Amino acid sequence: MHFTGTVYRNPYWPTWPLLEITQGCTHNKCKFCTMYRDVPFRTSPMEWIEDDLRELAKTDPDARTIQLLSANPLVLSYGKLAPILEMINKYLPKMEYVYLAGRVTDLKNKTVDELKKLKELGMREISLGVESGDDWTLDRINKGYHAAGILEQCRKLEEAGIDYWMTFLNGVAGKEHSREHAINSATIFSQCKPMLVGTGGLTLFPGTPLLEEAERGEFTPLSEKEMLEELKLFVENLTCDCSFITHHTVSGVNLTGPNFLARKEKIVAALDREIKQGDLDHMAAIRANKRSL
Ligand code: SF4
Repeated sequence: MHFTGTVYRNPYWPTWPLLEITQGCTHNKCKFCTMYRDVPFRTSPMEWIEDDLRELAKTDPDARTIQLLSANPLVLSYGKLAPILEMINKYLPKMEYVYLAGRVTDLKNKTVDELKKLKELGMREISLGVESGDDWTLDRINKGYHAAGILEQCRKLEEAGIDYWMTFLNGVAGKEHSREHAINSATIFSQCKPMLVGTGGLTLFPGTPLLEEAERGEFTPLSEKEMLEELKLFVENLTCDCSFITHHTVSGVNLTGPNFLARKEKIVAALDREIKQGDLDHMAAIRANKRSL
């Protein structure tokens, strides 16, 4: 199998095998991310992809799911993605679900009709690393799109019937804009129909522009308590009928699971308890030991 650099897979997708169809990230400019800094974006040659599928046809001929790599294989045009999906179906004829991640902007080069055809070929679930629905924050972290673009592109997925995830990056607006980041993100996410909203917490990794800005006093990171307060504000304002995942572990309550709206009050109450009584030093120690997103 061809794999380039560090392989990141979505830990919540129960999918196997992995197939690299692109390397790196087309954007590679988000101020908090180092994941693909040393891996230039490239589309895998079709011969590599076919070699890997031949191998998978021997080792995993009954595969029903597959996760496409790397950061944003969704960026490939319909004309490039469709033949890859056709090849996957040829070598793995029981394939049902093709999962892939992407940026909001990766949908711009596809029409709704093309997305429908890609769904027929197996592209059933997409994870969008949205991070924020607040324009100030999106500019601040250099995401390369605004809230209006999120709404426009998510509508296309809804029309095409493709399930999608949206991520919220807790803490990424710093103290300067935490409240607006939480409320405006929840407002924009709530106008979409994601099957799942996932939240991760910002860690400032060495080599990131955001850490350098923090060291120069231009970005003020949130404390663990402020992270929880921001997450609570986001959850309070989120009205999507979706599943919900958070990296925050709160003692005694599982915040992650389906039926977000039915569980929302419990999640808010658990976050509130954690803000008042949680072991915030322990949370800070866990964050300090993280080595990548
Ligand atoms: S966060 Fe995602 S889009 Fe941004 S640079 Fe990292 S991999 Fe690319």
